[in-house]
Amino acid sequence: SLTAGVVAVQGDVEEHAAAIERAAQDHDREVTVREIRDGGIVPDCDLLAMPGGESTTISRLVHSEGIAPEIRDHVAAGKPLLATCAGLIVASSDAGDDRVDELEVLDVSVERNAFGRQKDSFEAPLAVDGLADPYPAVFIRAPAIDAVGDADVLASWDGRPVAVRDGPVVGTSFHPELTADSRIHGLAFFENEAAAVPALEDAQ
Ligand code: GLN
Repeated sequence: SLTAGVVAVQGDVEEHAAAIERAAQDHDREVTVREIRDGGIVPDCDLLAMPGGESTTISRLVHSEGIAPEIRDHVAAGKPLLATCAGLIVASSDAGDDRVDELEVLDVSVERNAFGRQKDSFEAPLAVDGLADPYPAVFIRAPAIDAVGDADVLASWDGRPVAVRDGPVVGTSFHPELTADSRIHGLAFFENEAAAVPALEDAQ
């Protein structure tokens, strides 16, 4: 089966693990989920998720635990990464905040808490490139994506990009792990032609 990693230094880890399992099932794949709190596990992972939470904390811990360079290598090898909310901020090339040491695996600039002022939390039916029907997107003190470099915008809300794809990396401002709808995980991991997940016959 495939090995999936969820960066588990902080944030909504279990929800991502469950969403990955549902998406795998929808795509007739078997997956074993591992939680990543230390260096040395990411190299065994076929796909990775970096959850929402607190981006300054996640950033600090992925660097201090030696996970950061492994995530960069994972992406450089063309393996998929789904980075959501705080995860998107950490994955970006510019978080606009000195307390975040960006991984620079997703060529976008973000503004932290951009959707936080009007309302702390809301759900919106979002049209997403590659999905037939609107996706129920949950925004919680969500970042906006300001400048998009070498990345494709998959969805926008209120005129601002909220889902992007840069090769094997998909980033969302919202939390696809917090709804029962696992189509975003499906898109990121099993339907992304730019990302290499071992084919059924090659998976161990
Ligand atoms: N506002 C948080 C941050 O900047 C992200 C919010 C979230 O992940 N729900 O880290």
